[in-house]
Amino acid sequence: MSRPVAPRVPWETVLDRLSSLYHTGDWRVPYLRDHAENPFQVLIGTILSQRTRDANTDRASAALFARFPTPEAIAAARTDAIERLIRPVGFYRAKAQNIQECARALLLETGGAVPDDLDALLSLPGVGRKTANCVLVFGYGEPAIPVDTHVHRISNRLGLVRTRSPEETERRLERIVPREYWIPINPLLVQHGQNLCRPHTPRCGECPIREFCRTGRAWERRRTGPVGRATGRG
Ligand code: SF4
Repeated sequence: MSRPVAPRVPWETVLDRLSSLYHTGDWRVPYLRDHAENPFQVLIGTILSQRTRDANTDRASAALFARFPTPEAIAAARTDAIERLIRPVGFYRAKAQNIQECARALLLETGGAVPDDLDALLSLPGVGRKTANCVLVFGYGEPAIPVDTHVHRISNRLGLVRTRSPEETERRLERIVPREYWIPINPLLVQHGQNLCRPHTPRCGECPIREFCRTGRAWERRRTGPVGRATGRG
């Protein structure tokens, strides 16, 4: 079980610095004002993105939605036609099956409308917490914290959480992050994880939020630690 660390984080400053670094615009602007996205396509695109690089997800999503843009079209399509279109993503055969089951379940349960409720989303085939939270944030502009590997890793490096799984990180973040900051957390930390706070080699020396980061402060101490401590020993 994670030990509460009750970090004090100046969220406004952290989010300002990251959005300025990655030129994402003002995170205070309601997300859907500048990023209107179709909830169905967010849902299917997020299923496609699991364990796949963004560029490949984008290629597969564009090809799929150009031919089959709606739940009706995906549900009625031949599975092998979907497989061919989404081949750039990993596990494309399993994902083709998942997205068809998901489209069919939506048609059965809601007439094709994507729910804006976490539990209803989680009841759909192939939909886990990260996907459901992505639909809430990117499809509906509702406060939620989708936790992928980047958000999980960076939250631990920052010292916000000490957790072993993205699900645990999500639960902990929801307790400690004020709700008004939930929406920008995923897009900004994902950018940070793809650029500076990389999985194996975080570039702490270039990081604008280092002073608020447990790992960054440790990096700083190593850099400025007593010179010559080791030099007097044989
Ligand atoms: S200081 Fe280093 S570990 Fe911390 S957020 Fe920045 S890059 Fe990541």
